[in-house]
Amino acid sequence: MIGMMALPNIQPIYAVTIAIVIYFGVRVFVGRRKKQIQKSVGEGACAVCGQRIIKNKCPNCDKTN
Ligand SMILES: [Zn+2]
Repeated sequence: MIGMMALPNIQPIYAVTIAIVIYFGVRVFVGRRKKQIQKSVGEGACAVCGQRIIKNKCPNCDKTN
């Protein structure tokens, strides 16, 4: 691992702890992104043009109004 090479005197338990923290940090980040995507998809698509609805508005049709 790059982290272990950069810090050769580090105790293995700390290296493992850091790896676990990074692992769960990435998992939380990915989970939040998935929720955001699901939320935006859940709002559906415009019946007129098929654009994805964002904040209950069609970004394509509303800009011509
Ligand atoms: Zn539209």
